[in-house]
Amino acid sequence: MRPDESPNQEKGQPGFVSAALSGLCPSCGARTLFAAPAALAEECRACGLDLRKLERGGRFVGVVTMLLALVLIVAALGIDEWLRPPLWASLLFWAPVTVGAVIAALRIYKTMWVYHEYEESQS
Ligand SMILES: [Zn+2]
Repeated sequence: MRPDESPNQEKGQPGFVSAALSGLCPSCGARTLFAAPAALAEECRACGLDLRKLERGGRFVGVVTMLLALVLIVAALGIDEWLRPPLWASLLFWAPVTVGAVIAALRIYKTMWVYHEYEESQS
């Protein structure tokens, strides 16, 4: 394959959601953004970008989590009312859905914030 056959992607513009889910550093693109599923690393292990500084001000994380939990609880109650599944079935379904949704939302939210702050710090 010749070098000029590379796919014509926009330079430095990976899909935002995929960047969030795989935790790509806004500076170097390494998968170093998250130290835990929903916790930002303190700094990029590849390029040393100070992520704590970028995260500062991202104080709405708790609000985002609570809103999402509220939406999920309302959805769970609605489905319970509608289908009346046994309790174990509800737990089996909602426990992983809730955990997965909260983690995904936090990752996307934190990545969005860090990318925003990073752009600001570059200008
Ligand atoms: Zn980096």
